[in-house]
Amino acid sequence: MASPQAKSRSEKALFQATRLAAKTHPIAKHIFPETLDIDDNHSLWVQQTPDYQPGEPLRETISADLAIIGGGFTGVSTAYHFSRRYPEKRVVLLEAKTLANGASGRNGGMLLNWLANMYGLSPEMTLRIYQMTHAGIEMITDIIRRHQLPVSYRLDGTLTAYTDSRRAEAAHQEAEAHQQMGIPVQYLDAKRLKQELDLQGVYGAVLDPNSGQINGAQLIRFLRPVLQEQGVEIYEQSPVLGIQEGAILTLRTAQAEVKAKAVVLATNGYTGKLGYFHDALFPLHSHVFATAPLTEADQARIGWRRMAGYSDDLDRIAYSSLTRDGHIVFGGGSNQSYAYLFRNRTSYPGSPHSAQKSFAKIEQTNNRYLPGSASTPIMCRWTGTLGITLNRHPLIGVRGENRNLFYAIGYCGHGVTLANVAGQILTDLYSGDDERWRELPFYQMPYVPIPPEPFRWMGYQLFTRLTGRSPRM
Ligand SMILES: Cc1cc2nc3c(=O)[nH]c(=O)nc-3n(C[C@H](O)[C@H](O)[C@H](O)COP(=O)(O)OP(=O)(O)OC[C@H]3O[C@@H](n4cnc5c(N)ncnc54)[C@H](O)[C@@H]3O)c2cc1C
Repeated sequence: MASPQAKSRSEKALFQATRLAAKTHPIAKHIFPETLDIDDNHSLWVQQTPDYQPGEPLRETISADLAIIGGGFTGVSTAYHFSRRYPEKRVVLLEAKTLANGASGRNGGMLLNWLANMYGLSPEMTLRIYQMTHAGIEMITDIIRRHQLPVSYRLDGTLTAYTDSRRAEAAHQEAEAHQQMGIPVQYLDAKRLKQELDLQGVYGAVLDPNSGQINGAQLIRFLRPVLQEQGVEIYEQSPVLGIQEGAILTLRTAQAEVKAKAVVLATNGYTGKLGYFHDALFPLHSHVFATAPLTEADQARIGWRRMAGYSDDLDRIAYSSLTRDGHIVFGGGSNQSYAYLFRNRTSYPGSPHSAQKSFAKIEQTNNRYLPGSASTPIMCRWTGTLGITLNRHPLIGVRGENRNLFYAIGYCGHGVTLANVAGQILTDLYSGDDERWRELPFYQMPYVPIPPEPFRWMGYQLFTRLTGRSPRM
Protein backbone atom coordinates (compact mmCIF):
# COMPACT_ATOMS: atom_id res chain seq x y z
CA MET A 1 0.00 0.00 0.00
CA ALA A 2 1.40 3.43 -0.90
CA SER A 3 0.98 6.40 1.36
CA PRO A 4 -1.02 9.27 -0.14
CA GLN A 5 1.32 11.64 1.70
CA ALA A 6 4.28 11.12 -0.56
CA LYS A 7 4.60 11.15 -4.32
CA SER A 8 7.29 8.55 -5.04
CA ARG A 9 10.50 9.60 -6.79
CA SER A 10 9.90 7.15 -9.64
CA GLU A 11 6.39 8.54 -10.09
CA LYS A 12 7.72 12.09 -10.29
CA ALA A 13 10.52 11.07 -12.68
CA LEU A 14 8.09 9.24 -14.97
CA PHE A 15 5.72 12.19 -14.99
CA GLN A 16 8.50 14.65 -15.80
CA ALA A 17 9.97 12.42 -18.51
CA THR A 18 6.65 12.01 -20.29
CA ARG A 19 5.98 15.76 -20.04
CA LEU A 20 9.36 16.49 -21.55
CA ALA A 21 8.75 13.98 -24.34
CA ALA A 22 5.37 15.53 -25.00
CA LYS A 23 6.89 19.00 -25.29
CA THR A 24 9.81 18.12 -27.48
CA HIS A 25 9.02 15.28 -29.84
CA PRO A 26 6.57 15.87 -32.73
CA ILE A 27 5.15 12.32 -32.67
CA ALA A 28 5.14 12.11 -28.91
CA LYS A 29 3.01 15.25 -28.89
CA HIS A 30 0.14 13.19 -30.27
CA ILE A 31 0.69 10.27 -27.95
CA PHE A 32 1.20 12.40 -24.84
CA PRO A 33 -0.99 15.43 -25.45
CA GLU A 34 0.11 18.33 -23.28
CA THR A 35 -3.37 19.74 -22.98
CA LEU A 36 -5.52 18.99 -19.99
CA ASP A 37 -7.27 16.48 -22.17
CA ILE A 38 -10.86 17.00 -21.05
CA ASP A 39 -13.49 16.52 -23.74
CA ASP A 40 -17.04 17.83 -23.68
CA ASN A 41 -19.35 15.35 -25.28
CA HIS A 42 -22.87 15.94 -24.04
CA SER A 43 -25.13 13.65 -22.09
CA LEU A 44 -28.91 13.57 -21.82
CA TRP A 45 -28.49 15.12 -18.35
CA VAL A 46 -26.61 18.12 -19.73
CA GLN A 47 -29.07 18.47 -22.61
CA GLN A 48 -31.78 18.85 -19.98
CA THR A 49 -30.16 22.07 -18.73
CA PRO A 50 -30.53 23.96 -22.05
CA ASP A 51 -30.36 27.48 -20.59
CA TYR A 52 -27.10 26.96 -18.73
CA GLN A 53 -24.26 29.31 -19.72
CA PRO A 54 -20.75 28.69 -18.36
CA GLY A 55 -19.45 31.45 -16.09
CA GLU A 56 -16.48 33.71 -16.75
CA PRO A 57 -12.90 32.46 -16.36
CA LEU A 58 -10.52 33.69 -13.67
CA ARG A 59 -8.69 36.73 -15.09
CA GLU A 60 -6.84 38.19 -12.11
CA THR A 61 -4.69 36.84 -9.30
CA ILE A 62 -6.67 36.40 -6.10
CA SER A 63 -6.29 34.89 -2.66
CA ALA A 64 -8.68 32.50 -0.92
CA ASP A 65 -9.15 30.53 2.26
CA LEU A 66 -10.22 27.49 0.26
CA ALA A 67 -9.77 26.84 -3.47
CA ILE A 68 -11.64 23.89 -4.95
CA ILE A 69 -10.48 22.40 -8.25
CA GLY A 70 -13.31 20.72 -10.17
CA GLY A 71 -17.00 21.48 -10.61
CA GLY A 72 -18.58 18.03 -10.26
CA PHE A 73 -20.47 16.62 -7.26
CA THR A 74 -17.32 16.60 -5.11
CA GLY A 75 -16.38 20.22 -5.82
CA VAL A 76 -19.90 21.59 -5.63
CA SER A 77 -20.85 19.65 -2.48
CA THR A 78 -17.63 20.83 -0.80
CA ALA A 79 -18.36 24.43 -1.77
CA TYR A 80 -21.93 24.04 -0.48
CA HIS A 81 -21.16 22.53 2.95
CA PHE A 82 -17.97 24.51 3.56
CA SER A 83 -19.52 27.89 2.78
CA ARG A 84 -22.47 27.15 5.07
CA ARG A 85 -20.15 26.21 7.93
CA TYR A 86 -17.71 29.08 7.29
CA PRO A 87 -19.67 31.98 5.78
CA GLU A 88 -16.81 34.38 6.62
CA LYS A 89 -14.19 32.49 4.57
CA ARG A 90 -13.38 33.20 0.94
CA VAL A 91 -14.15 30.10 -1.13
CA VAL A 92 -13.23 29.84 -4.81
CA LEU A 93 -14.16 27.05 -7.23
CA LEU A 94 -12.23 26.60 -10.48
CA GLU A 95 -13.68 24.39 -13.21
CA ALA A 96 -11.79 23.59 -16.42
CA LYS A 97 -14.88 23.65 -18.65
CA THR A 98 -18.39 24.00 -17.24
CA LEU A 99 -19.97 22.76 -14.03
CA ALA A 100 -21.00 19.08 -14.45
CA ASN A 101 -18.68 18.61 -17.40
CA GLY A 102 -17.15 15.44 -15.92
CA ALA A 103 -18.62 12.17 -14.66
CA SER A 104 -21.19 14.03 -12.56
CA GLY A 105 -22.91 15.23 -15.72
CA ARG A 106 -22.39 12.06 -17.76
CA ASN A 107 -23.17 9.11 -15.51
CA GLY A 108 -25.88 6.44 -15.51
CA GLY A 109 -27.96 8.46 -13.06
CA MET A 110 -28.26 5.78 -10.38
CA LEU A 111 -28.47 7.18 -6.87
CA LEU A 112 -27.09 4.22 -4.93
CA ASN A 113 -26.25 3.07 -1.45
CA TRP A 114 -23.04 1.16 -0.61
CA LEU A 115 -19.50 1.41 -1.96
CA ALA A 116 -18.57 -0.14 -5.31
CA ASN A 117 -16.87 -2.98 -3.41
CA MET A 118 -18.30 -4.24 -0.13
CA TYR A 119 -16.35 -7.47 -0.14
CA GLY A 120 -14.79 -8.57 3.16
CA LEU A 121 -16.30 -5.81 5.34
CA SER A 122 -17.60 -6.74 8.78
CA PRO A 123 -21.37 -6.72 9.44
CA GLU A 124 -20.92 -3.58 11.60
CA MET A 125 -19.06 -1.78 8.80
CA THR A 126 -21.62 -2.97 6.23
CA LEU A 127 -24.42 -1.46 8.30
CA ARG A 128 -22.45 1.72 8.91
CA ILE A 129 -21.82 2.20 5.19
CA TYR A 130 -25.46 1.59 4.29
CA GLN A 131 -26.58 4.11 6.93
CA MET A 132 -23.98 6.64 5.74
CA THR A 133 -25.02 6.42 2.09
CA HIS A 134 -28.71 6.38 2.97
CA ALA A 135 -28.19 9.58 5.00
CA GLY A 136 -26.32 10.93 1.96
CA ILE A 137 -29.30 10.32 -0.34
CA GLU A 138 -31.59 12.01 2.18
CA MET A 139 -29.19 14.95 2.38
CA ILE A 140 -29.26 15.34 -1.43
CA THR A 141 -33.06 15.36 -1.55
CA ASP A 142 -33.19 17.76 1.44
CA ILE A 143 -30.97 20.20 -0.45
CA ILE A 144 -33.22 19.92 -3.51
CA ARG A 145 -36.28 20.65 -1.37
CA ARG A 146 -34.64 23.36 0.76
CA HIS A 147 -33.61 25.39 -2.29
CA GLN A 148 -36.58 24.32 -4.44
CA LEU A 149 -34.29 23.14 -7.23
CA PRO A 150 -36.14 21.87 -10.33
CA VAL A 151 -34.07 18.67 -10.39
CA SER A 152 -35.59 15.51 -11.85
CA TYR A 153 -35.14 12.51 -9.53
CA ARG A 154 -37.01 9.46 -8.32
CA LEU A 155 -36.52 7.30 -5.23
CA ASP A 156 -38.56 4.18 -5.91
CA GLY A 157 -35.70 1.70 -5.62
CA THR A 158 -33.07 0.03 -7.77
CA LEU A 159 -32.25 -3.62 -8.38
CA THR A 160 -29.13 -5.75 -8.59
CA ALA A 161 -30.09 -8.47 -11.07
CA TYR A 162 -28.54 -11.96 -10.97
CA THR A 163 -27.87 -13.80 -14.22
CA ASP A 164 -26.79 -17.07 -12.62
CA SER A 165 -28.97 -19.25 -10.39
CA ARG A 166 -26.25 -19.95 -7.81
CA ARG A 167 -25.31 -16.29 -7.51
CA ALA A 168 -29.02 -15.47 -7.18
CA GLU A 169 -29.39 -17.91 -4.30
CA ALA A 170 -26.29 -16.50 -2.57
CA ALA A 171 -27.71 -12.98 -3.01
CA HIS A 172 -31.01 -14.18 -1.54
CA GLN A 173 -29.23 -15.39 1.60
CA GLU A 174 -27.17 -12.24 1.86
CA ALA A 175 -30.32 -10.09 1.54
CA GLU A 176 -31.88 -12.01 4.44
CA ALA A 177 -28.76 -11.48 6.54
CA HIS A 178 -28.89 -7.76 5.73
CA GLN A 179 -32.56 -7.60 6.71
CA GLN A 180 -31.70 -9.09 10.11
CA MET A 181 -29.19 -6.27 10.56
CA GLY A 182 -31.93 -3.73 9.84
CA ILE A 183 -31.00 -3.00 6.21
CA PRO A 184 -34.30 -2.98 4.30
CA VAL A 185 -33.21 -4.77 1.10
CA GLN A 186 -35.48 -7.42 -0.33
CA TYR A 187 -34.93 -10.43 -2.60
CA LEU A 188 -37.32 -10.73 -5.56
CA ASP A 189 -37.54 -14.13 -7.25
CA ALA A 190 -37.99 -14.38 -11.02
CA LYS A 191 -41.80 -14.42 -10.79
CA ARG A 192 -41.96 -11.36 -8.55
CA LEU A 193 -39.33 -9.58 -10.61
CA LYS A 194 -41.41 -10.06 -13.76
CA GLN A 195 -44.18 -7.96 -12.19
CA GLU A 196 -41.80 -5.06 -11.52
CA LEU A 197 -39.15 -5.08 -14.23
CA ASP A 198 -39.26 -7.97 -16.68
CA LEU A 199 -35.54 -8.53 -17.34
CA GLN A 200 -34.75 -11.52 -19.56
CA GLY A 201 -32.14 -14.07 -18.49
CA VAL A 202 -32.35 -13.03 -14.84
CA TYR A 203 -32.97 -15.51 -11.98
CA GLY A 204 -33.74 -13.03 -9.23
CA ALA A 205 -32.80 -9.57 -7.97
CA VAL A 206 -32.14 -7.66 -4.77
CA LEU A 207 -34.22 -4.53 -4.36
CA ASP A 208 -32.83 -1.58 -2.41
CA PRO A 209 -35.93 0.55 -1.78
CA ASN A 210 -33.88 3.52 -0.54
CA SER A 211 -32.12 4.18 -3.83
CA GLY A 212 -33.15 5.81 -7.09
CA GLN A 213 -32.15 7.93 -10.03
CA ILE A 214 -31.20 11.59 -10.49
CA ASN A 215 -30.18 14.10 -13.15
CA GLY A 216 -26.77 15.13 -11.75
CA ALA A 217 -26.20 17.96 -14.23
CA GLN A 218 -29.42 19.62 -13.07
CA LEU A 219 -28.45 19.20 -9.40
CA ILE A 220 -25.05 20.82 -9.91
CA ARG A 221 -26.05 23.55 -12.33
CA PHE A 222 -29.16 24.61 -10.40
CA LEU A 223 -26.98 24.85 -7.29
CA ARG A 224 -24.71 27.48 -8.91
CA PRO A 225 -26.83 30.49 -7.85
CA VAL A 226 -27.26 28.99 -4.37
CA LEU A 227 -23.49 28.72 -3.99
CA GLN A 228 -23.00 32.24 -5.27
CA GLU A 229 -25.54 33.48 -2.76
CA GLN A 230 -23.53 31.71 -0.05
CA GLY A 231 -20.51 33.74 -1.22
CA VAL A 232 -18.68 31.11 -3.29
CA GLU A 233 -16.82 32.53 -6.30
CA ILE A 234 -17.12 30.23 -9.28
CA TYR A 235 -14.79 30.47 -12.25
CA GLU A 236 -15.58 28.21 -15.19
CA GLN A 237 -13.43 27.72 -18.32
CA SER A 238 -10.50 27.97 -15.90
CA PRO A 239 -8.35 24.84 -16.00
CA VAL A 240 -5.78 24.70 -13.22
CA LEU A 241 -2.47 23.99 -14.95
CA GLY A 242 -0.26 23.44 -11.93
CA ILE A 243 -0.18 23.42 -8.13
CA GLN A 244 2.70 24.71 -6.07
CA GLU A 245 2.50 23.44 -2.52
CA GLY A 246 3.43 25.39 0.63
CA ALA A 247 1.78 26.97 3.67
CA ILE A 248 0.00 29.00 1.00
CA LEU A 249 -0.67 26.94 -2.13
CA THR A 250 -0.50 28.55 -5.57
CA LEU A 251 -2.81 27.39 -8.35
CA ARG A 252 -1.83 28.48 -11.83
CA THR A 253 -4.41 29.03 -14.58
CA ALA A 254 -3.80 30.36 -18.10
CA GLN A 255 -4.45 33.97 -17.10
CA ALA A 256 -3.96 34.23 -13.34
CA GLU A 257 -3.19 32.54 -10.04
CA VAL A 258 -5.03 31.68 -6.84
CA LYS A 259 -3.10 31.85 -3.57
CA ALA A 260 -5.00 29.63 -1.16
CA LYS A 261 -4.59 28.49 2.44
CA ALA A 262 -6.17 25.15 1.55
CA VAL A 263 -7.00 23.38 -1.69
CA VAL A 264 -9.40 20.56 -2.58
CA LEU A 265 -8.64 18.17 -5.43
CA ALA A 266 -12.16 17.42 -6.68
CA THR A 267 -10.90 16.21 -10.03
CA ASN A 268 -11.68 12.47 -9.79
CA GLY A 269 -10.51 10.63 -12.96
CA TYR A 270 -8.58 13.74 -14.12
CA THR A 271 -6.45 14.03 -10.97
CA GLY A 272 -3.33 12.39 -12.48
CA LYS A 273 -3.12 15.24 -15.00
CA LEU A 274 -2.30 17.58 -12.12
CA GLY A 275 0.54 15.29 -11.02
CA TYR A 276 -1.24 13.65 -8.09
CA PHE A 277 -2.37 10.09 -7.40
CA HIS A 278 -0.89 8.70 -10.64
CA ASP A 279 -0.42 5.34 -9.03
CA ALA A 280 -3.72 5.34 -7.14
CA LEU A 281 -6.36 5.56 -9.81
CA PHE A 282 -6.85 5.31 -13.55
CA PRO A 283 -9.43 6.93 -15.80
CA LEU A 284 -11.79 4.43 -17.39
CA HIS A 285 -14.14 5.52 -20.16
CA SER A 286 -17.68 4.22 -20.08
CA HIS A 287 -20.10 4.66 -22.98
CA VAL A 288 -23.77 5.40 -22.31
CA PHE A 289 -26.88 6.00 -24.40
CA ALA A 290 -30.36 7.36 -23.71
CA THR A 291 -33.48 6.42 -25.64
CA ALA A 292 -36.20 8.77 -26.75
CA PRO A 293 -38.85 9.07 -24.01
CA LEU A 294 -41.21 6.11 -23.62
CA THR A 295 -44.84 6.73 -22.72
CA GLU A 296 -46.23 4.90 -19.69
CA ALA A 297 -47.96 2.47 -22.06
CA ASP A 298 -44.62 1.81 -23.82
CA GLN A 299 -42.91 1.25 -20.48
CA ALA A 300 -45.57 -1.32 -19.52
CA ARG A 301 -45.24 -2.97 -22.95
CA ILE A 302 -41.49 -3.49 -22.63
CA GLY A 303 -41.89 -4.72 -19.03
CA TRP A 304 -40.52 -1.70 -17.09
CA ARG A 305 -43.43 -1.29 -14.68
CA ARG A 306 -41.70 0.09 -11.60
CA MET A 307 -38.17 0.82 -10.31
CA ALA A 308 -35.71 3.61 -10.97
CA GLY A 309 -33.01 1.33 -12.37
CA TYR A 310 -30.98 -1.86 -12.28
CA SER A 311 -27.44 -3.14 -12.63
CA ASP A 312 -26.36 -6.72 -13.25
CA ASP A 313 -23.97 -9.06 -11.45
CA LEU A 314 -21.38 -9.40 -14.23
CA ASP A 315 -17.80 -8.11 -14.16
CA ARG A 316 -18.38 -5.72 -17.05
CA ILE A 317 -21.31 -4.34 -15.14
CA ALA A 318 -24.39 -3.19 -17.08
CA TYR A 319 -26.33 -0.32 -15.49
CA SER A 320 -29.57 1.28 -16.51
CA SER A 321 -32.08 3.77 -15.16
CA LEU A 322 -35.41 5.20 -16.26
CA THR A 323 -35.90 8.94 -15.96
CA ARG A 324 -39.14 10.40 -14.69
CA ASP A 325 -39.86 11.59 -18.21
CA GLY A 326 -39.39 8.09 -19.65
CA HIS A 327 -35.86 7.94 -21.13
CA ILE A 328 -34.00 4.65 -20.64
CA VAL A 329 -30.34 5.41 -19.86
CA PHE A 330 -28.03 2.42 -20.37
CA GLY A 331 -24.28 1.83 -20.09
CA GLY A 332 -21.77 -0.96 -19.68
CA GLY A 333 -22.42 -4.67 -20.10
CA SER A 334 -19.45 -5.76 -22.23
CA ASN A 335 -15.72 -5.33 -22.72
CA GLN A 336 -16.41 -2.97 -25.63
CA SER A 337 -18.43 -0.63 -23.46
CA TYR A 338 -15.42 0.35 -21.35
CA ALA A 339 -12.01 1.64 -22.47
CA TYR A 340 -8.71 2.51 -20.84
CA LEU A 341 -6.57 4.72 -23.10
CA PHE A 342 -2.79 4.69 -22.97
CA ARG A 343 -1.19 6.96 -20.39
CA ASN A 344 -4.36 7.84 -18.57
CA ARG A 345 -5.99 9.80 -21.37
CA THR A 346 -9.05 11.46 -19.92
CA SER A 347 -10.88 12.42 -23.09
CA TYR A 348 -12.31 9.83 -25.45
CA PRO A 349 -11.37 11.39 -28.79
CA GLY A 350 -14.32 11.91 -31.10
CA SER A 351 -16.86 10.08 -28.95
CA PRO A 352 -19.63 9.20 -29.67
CA HIS A 353 -18.73 8.91 -33.40
CA SER A 354 -15.42 7.14 -32.80
CA ALA A 355 -16.98 4.45 -30.62
CA GLN A 356 -19.67 3.10 -32.93
CA LYS A 357 -18.86 -0.57 -32.25
CA SER A 358 -18.98 0.07 -28.52
CA PHE A 359 -22.37 1.71 -28.77
CA ALA A 360 -23.70 -1.09 -30.99
CA LYS A 361 -22.61 -3.60 -28.34
CA ILE A 362 -24.24 -1.63 -25.52
CA GLU A 363 -27.50 -1.47 -27.45
CA GLN A 364 -27.35 -5.26 -27.96
CA THR A 365 -26.92 -5.79 -24.21
CA ASN A 366 -29.87 -3.53 -23.43
CA ASN A 367 -31.98 -5.39 -26.00
CA ARG A 368 -30.98 -8.71 -24.47
CA TYR A 369 -32.34 -7.67 -21.06
CA LEU A 370 -35.38 -5.81 -22.41
CA PRO A 371 -36.09 -7.11 -25.95
CA GLY A 372 -39.24 -4.97 -26.21
CA SER A 373 -37.10 -1.82 -26.10
CA ALA A 374 -35.14 -2.70 -29.28
CA SER A 375 -37.41 -0.59 -31.48
CA THR A 376 -37.15 2.51 -29.26
CA PRO A 377 -35.05 5.18 -31.01
CA ILE A 378 -31.76 6.24 -29.38
CA MET A 379 -31.73 9.96 -28.68
CA CYS A 380 -28.29 10.59 -27.30
CA ARG A 381 -24.90 8.83 -26.89
CA TRP A 382 -21.97 9.92 -24.76
CA THR A 383 -18.79 8.83 -22.96
CA GLY A 384 -17.75 9.67 -19.40
CA THR A 385 -14.57 9.26 -17.36
CA LEU A 386 -14.67 7.18 -14.20
CA GLY A 387 -11.88 7.28 -11.60
CA ILE A 388 -11.04 3.65 -10.77
CA THR A 389 -8.98 2.51 -7.79
CA LEU A 390 -7.69 -1.05 -7.52
CA ASN A 391 -9.83 -1.97 -4.52
CA ARG A 392 -12.71 0.20 -5.80
CA HIS A 393 -12.87 2.26 -2.63
CA PRO A 394 -12.67 6.04 -2.97
CA LEU A 395 -9.81 8.00 -1.41
CA ILE A 396 -10.78 10.87 0.86
CA GLY A 397 -8.36 12.72 3.08
CA VAL A 398 -5.67 15.39 3.34
CA ARG A 399 -2.03 15.31 2.27
CA GLY A 400 1.10 17.44 1.97
CA GLU A 401 3.66 18.72 4.45
CA ASN A 402 1.29 21.47 5.52
CA ARG A 403 -1.77 19.19 5.64
CA ASN A 404 -3.63 21.64 3.44
CA LEU A 405 -4.17 19.68 0.22
CA PHE A 406 -7.50 17.87 0.57
CA TYR A 407 -8.77 15.25 -1.86
CA ALA A 408 -11.87 13.15 -2.54
CA ILE A 409 -11.49 10.96 -5.63
CA GLY A 410 -11.81 7.44 -7.09
CA TYR A 411 -15.46 6.57 -6.48
CA CYS A 412 -15.53 4.03 -9.34
CA GLY A 413 -19.17 3.45 -10.42
CA HIS A 414 -20.67 4.54 -7.09
CA GLY A 415 -19.97 8.25 -6.92
CA VAL A 416 -23.36 9.90 -7.33
CA THR A 417 -24.17 9.56 -3.65
CA LEU A 418 -20.62 9.40 -2.27
CA ALA A 419 -19.22 12.41 -4.11
CA ASN A 420 -22.11 14.43 -2.70
CA VAL A 421 -21.29 13.16 0.79
CA ALA A 422 -17.63 14.08 0.17
CA GLY A 423 -18.44 17.76 0.74
CA GLN A 424 -19.60 16.98 4.28
CA ILE A 425 -16.59 14.73 4.92
CA LEU A 426 -14.01 17.28 3.74
CA THR A 427 -15.67 20.09 5.68
CA ASP A 428 -15.56 17.97 8.84
CA LEU A 429 -11.95 16.97 8.16
CA TYR A 430 -10.96 20.63 7.73
CA SER A 431 -12.74 21.46 11.00
CA GLY A 432 -11.18 18.58 12.92
CA ASP A 433 -14.71 17.44 13.69
CA ASP A 434 -14.49 14.17 11.79
CA GLU A 435 -15.35 11.38 14.26
CA ARG A 436 -18.26 10.07 12.23
CA TRP A 437 -16.01 9.28 9.24
CA ARG A 438 -13.10 7.69 11.06
CA GLU A 439 -12.28 4.08 10.19
CA LEU A 440 -14.51 4.07 7.13
CA PRO A 441 -12.52 2.11 4.52
CA PHE A 442 -12.03 5.13 2.25
CA TYR A 443 -11.21 7.74 4.89
CA GLN A 444 -7.53 8.69 5.23
CA MET A 445 -6.55 5.23 4.00
CA PRO A 446 -3.46 4.04 2.15
CA TYR A 447 -4.14 2.68 -1.31
CA VAL A 448 -3.14 -0.25 -3.49
CA PRO A 449 -0.73 1.18 -6.11
CA ILE A 450 -1.30 0.60 -9.83
CA PRO A 451 1.83 -0.02 -11.95
CA PRO A 452 3.05 2.79 -14.27
CA GLU A 453 2.88 2.77 -18.09
CA PRO A 454 3.39 0.83 -20.26
CA PHE A 455 2.62 -2.01 -17.79
CA ARG A 456 -0.67 -0.40 -16.80
CA TRP A 457 -2.01 -0.30 -20.36
CA MET A 458 -0.64 -3.74 -21.25
CA GLY A 459 -1.99 -5.23 -18.03
CA TYR A 460 -5.44 -3.77 -18.64
CA GLN A 461 -5.55 -4.98 -22.25
CA LEU A 462 -4.23 -8.45 -21.47
CA PHE A 463 -6.45 -8.99 -18.48
CA THR A 464 -9.68 -7.75 -20.03
CA ARG A 465 -9.13 -9.33 -23.45
CA LEU A 466 -7.87 -12.70 -22.27
CA THR A 467 -10.30 -13.18 -19.43
CA GLY A 468 -13.18 -10.98 -20.62
CA ARG A 469 -13.23 -9.80 -17.02
CA SER A 470 -12.41 -6.73 -15.00
CA PRO A 471 -12.91 -5.69 -11.42
CA ARG A 472 -16.57 -4.81 -10.94
CA MET A 473 -17.09 -1.06 -10.64
C1 LIG B 1 -20.37 6.83 -17.66
C2 LIG B 1 -20.45 6.89 -16.16
C3 LIG B 1 -21.52 6.28 -15.52
C4 LIG B 1 -21.62 6.35 -14.13
N1 LIG B 1 -22.77 5.89 -13.52
C5 LIG B 1 -22.91 6.03 -12.18
C6 LIG B 1 -24.14 5.67 -11.56
O1 LIG B 1 -25.11 5.31 -12.23
N2 LIG B 1 -24.21 5.79 -10.20
C7 LIG B 1 -23.16 6.22 -9.45
O2 LIG B 1 -23.27 6.29 -8.22
N3 LIG B 1 -22.00 6.63 -10.03
C8 LIG B 1 -21.87 6.57 -11.37
N4 LIG B 1 -20.73 7.02 -11.97
C9 LIG B 1 -19.67 7.62 -11.13
C10 LIG B 1 -20.00 9.05 -10.72
O3 LIG B 1 -20.62 9.75 -11.75
C11 LIG B 1 -18.70 9.74 -10.31
O4 LIG B 1 -18.05 8.98 -9.32
C12 LIG B 1 -18.92 11.14 -9.73
O5 LIG B 1 -19.69 11.91 -10.61
C13 LIG B 1 -17.58 11.81 -9.45
O6 LIG B 1 -17.81 13.17 -9.18
P1 LIG B 1 -16.58 14.18 -9.06
O7 LIG B 1 -17.12 15.51 -8.80
O8 LIG B 1 -15.62 13.62 -8.08
O9 LIG B 1 -15.85 14.09 -10.47
P2 LIG B 1 -16.28 14.71 -11.88
O10 LIG B 1 -17.73 14.80 -12.03
O11 LIG B 1 -15.52 13.96 -12.91
O12 LIG B 1 -15.76 16.19 -11.78
C14 LIG B 1 -14.41 16.55 -11.92
C15 LIG B 1 -14.40 17.94 -12.54
O13 LIG B 1 -13.09 18.45 -12.46
C16 LIG B 1 -12.84 19.21 -13.64
N5 LIG B 1 -11.38 19.29 -13.78
C17 LIG B 1 -10.53 18.28 -14.02
N6 LIG B 1 -9.26 18.74 -14.05
C18 LIG B 1 -9.33 20.07 -13.80
C19 LIG B 1 -8.36 21.09 -13.68
N7 LIG B 1 -7.06 20.84 -13.86
N8 LIG B 1 -8.77 22.34 -13.41
C20 LIG B 1 -10.08 22.62 -13.23
N9 LIG B 1 -11.04 21.67 -13.32
C21 LIG B 1 -10.67 20.42 -13.60
C22 LIG B 1 -13.53 18.40 -14.73
O14 LIG B 1 -13.82 19.20 -15.88
C23 LIG B 1 -14.79 17.94 -14.01
O15 LIG B 1 -15.88 18.82 -14.20
C24 LIG B 1 -20.61 6.99 -13.36
C25 LIG B 1 -19.52 7.59 -14.01
C26 LIG B 1 -19.45 7.55 -15.40
C27 LIG B 1 -18.32 8.22 -16.09
